[in-house]
Amino acid sequence: MPAPEAWRLRFWRYVQKSESCWLWIGSKNEHGYGQLSISNRPAKAHRLSWELHQGPIPDGKCVLHRCDNPACVNPEHLFLGTQADNVLDCRQKGRQKGPPIRTHCSRGHALSGENLYVSPRGHRSCRMCRMQWMAAHQEERREYLRAYGALRRQKEKRHAA
Ligand SMILES: [Zn+2]
Ligand SMILES: [Zn+2]
Repeated sequence: MPAPEAWRLRFWRYVQKSESCWLWIGSKNEHGYGQLSISNRPAKAHRLSWELHQGPIPDGKCVLHRCDNPACVNPEHLFLGTQADNVLDCRQKGRQKGPPIRTHCSRGHALSGENLYVSPRGHRSCRMCRMQWMAAHQEERREYLRAYGALRRQKEKRHAA
């Protein structure tokens, strides 16, 4: 990592401040986010802005825009969120192609708050249905064990001995 000052100085060369958004006039990626090359790797300008004004970005956190302007680097317009928030945010704003985000599961439970389960791969599912599915699965397992009850009892005896 180069000394922070190395990019700090370059950063301001590409910022055009306005009353509201601070526009990044340097290079942008395909999604319209400003980027600055640091050690030959593109770094997102709005993330650099966050680090510049607010400090380090905690692990696993994303810097998101309140103003829906990916080229904006105004720290006042930025906030921290999770990757799941980011995907949700992008889809809601129509910036990312993909199936429309579901607000309810197929059984009508709200996919939000406590009931929203986001898998490590970003798949959103219903916690209530998930639990019901697991309970049903457990029931299946119990059936299986009941069918082989005699065998199980033998095993238990062996374990106890
Ligand atoms: Zn803005
Ligand atoms: Zn559900």
